[in-house]
Amino acid sequence: AKEQGRNGFSFFTREMQTQSQNRLHLANDLREALANNQLQVWFQPIAEVATGEVVKAEALLRWVHPDRGMVSPAQFVPIAEENGCIHDIGNWVFQRSALMAKQWSDLFPSVGGDAPSISVNLSPRQFTRGDFSDHWAAYINEIGLQTESIVVEITEGLLLSDASDILGKLENLRAAGMQVALDDFGTGYSAMAYLKKFPIDYLKIDRSFVRDIDADANDRAIAEAIVAMAHKLGIKVVAEGVETEAQRDILASVGCEYLQGYLYAKPMPEDEFLAYVSHRAAP
Ligand code: C2E
Ligand code: CA
Ligand code: CA
Ligand code: CA
Repeated sequence: AKEQGRNGFSFFTREMQTQSQNRLHLANDLREALANNQLQVWFQPIAEVATGEVVKAEALLRWVHPDRGMVSPAQFVPIAEENGCIHDIGNWVFQRSALMAKQWSDLFPSVGGDAPSISVNLSPRQFTRGDFSDHWAAYINEIGLQTESIVVEITEGLLLSDASDILGKLENLRAAGMQVALDDFGTGYSAMAYLKKFPIDYLKIDRSFVRDIDADANDRAIAEAIVAMAHKLGIKVVAEGVETEAQRDILASVGCEYLQGYLYAKPMPEDEFLAYVSHRAAP
C-alpha cells in the first residue's frame, strides 16, 4: 500500500519505484514477445473422475524472457490487459489451443466418452472487442474441430462488470459449439443469480478451497455445497489444484466430475503434452 509521508504527502517507497519501473520494462518487452516467439502455450491435463482418463486440458501461457527467464502469467497477463496486447495474445492462445484440440481429437475422437477438449482463459478485456467470438467460430469451422472441443474460462468479475452484452457474446460462443467454465469459483462475489442468468457449463472450484480440504471441515462443506448447487443447475464441477490423494478422494466423494492439479500432472509444453496424451491412450 502507498505510505503516507510525515507531512501528509503520499510517496512511493524505493521498492515500489523499482516495481513500477520493472512493470514498464516488461510492458515494452511484451509488445515484442509474441513476434519474437518468446510466448508459449502449455497444457495441463484434467482427469475425469468416473473413468480416470485425461479428457480435458487447460491452456496456460508461458513467457520465456531472454534476460529474466520464465515470467509468470500472473505477472504479465495484467500488463497485457493494460496495454492492449491481450487481444493479439489471447487470439493466439486460442489458435494454438484449437490446433492442439484438433490433433488430440484426430488421434482419439473420444476419450472417456466425449471428444477431448481444451479450455482457454479469457480475460474480461477481451470481451470489450465484440468480434472475437465470430473469428474464433470461423477458425473452428476452418480446421474442422468437433463441437464442444473448446471451453472458454471466464471469471466472476466479468459477469458483474459493465462490459456490454456479455450474455450475447457467451451465447455466440456456445452457438459456435464452445462451452463456458466459470473459473476461480468461490473467491469472488459468488453471487448465485448469475449462474442462472448466464450459460455456464462448468464451475471450477478455486484451489484455495482445495488446499486444506482434508483437514478443514469448512472447506469441505463449501466444496460440497458448490457441487450440490452446480448439479441442481445442470453444471459440472472441476476442482483445481489437486495435489494429494486425500484431496482427490474427498473431491470425488462429494461428486466433482473433473480434477486438475499436480497430483495428475503439471502444465507442459505442446510437444510434451501431445506425447503424454498419445502414450496414455495407446492400447
Ligand atoms: P488459473 O486460470 O486459475 O490457472 C490455474 C493456475 O494454477 C495455473 O497457474 C496452474 O499452473 C496452477 N496450478 C495447476 N495445478 C496446480 C496445483 O496442483 N498446485 C498449484 N500450486 N498450482 C497449480 P499459472 O499457469 O501460473 O497461471 C496463473 C494465472 O494466469 C491463471 O490462473 C490465469 O488467471 C492466468 N493465465 C494463464 N494463462 C492465461 C491466458 O492464456 N490468458 C489469460 N487471460 N490468463 C491466463
Ligand atoms: Ca483458468
Ligand atoms: Ca482457476
Ligand atoms: Ca486462480
